[in-house]
Amino acid sequence: MEIVCLDLEGVLVPEIWINFAERTGIEALRATTRDIPDYDVLMKQRLRILDEHGYGLPDIQAVINEMGPMEGAREFVDWLRERFQVVILSDTFYEFAQPLMRQLGWPTLLCHRLEVNEAGRITDYRLRQKDPKRMSVQAFHGLQYRVIAAGDSYNDTTMLAEADAGILFHAPQNVIDEFPQFPAVHTYEDLKQEILKASVRDLSL
Ligand SMILES: [Mg+2]
Repeated sequence: MEIVCLDLEGVLVPEIWINFAERTGIEALRATTRDIPDYDVLMKQRLRILDEHGYGLPDIQAVINEMGPMEGAREFVDWLRERFQVVILSDTFYEFAQPLMRQLGWPTLLCHRLEVNEAGRITDYRLRQKDPKRMSVQAFHGLQYRVIAAGDSYNDTTMLAEADAGILFHAPQNVIDEFPQFPAVHTYEDLKQEILKASVRDLSL
């Protein structure tokens, strides 16, 4: 039994916060954990900025809906799901991902969740657990699945290490240099090849 775990942002869809900042022109929303390493501080700042600009969840979802998945992502996911069980492991929130997941055909997604009041204002957020991507791979191992994982950034590296095979996709050069143990590819066609190589079954394109 084999399962493929995929990161979402940077692998199948654009970086949601950066893209949202670009589409709304709210520069302050471009900040990432590179600027503010404490994720809790960063998220509180993001929610405060959304509030200040009067963005409730429906407005945010409308903007996210416009982003769409990356070119070729839907076809790649469909191809993968014919050959493997596929689970997306992400540090985003269900409420943000929803418009993009619709465009990807609703694959299984494990991520975090927002708290939203009746007026649509985001009041808080709930992280599912610590180191959720690695914990998910561990859990799949407990269920006797062999795991192949692909991601693009630092928050994926514990997942890639925990998996039976880890692949970097669309990763920036500094991540590729820091984690030479993982093969690095940049197109869906190459990612398919790496996944087939990592499989213990005799699958074809
Ligand atoms: Mg990512």
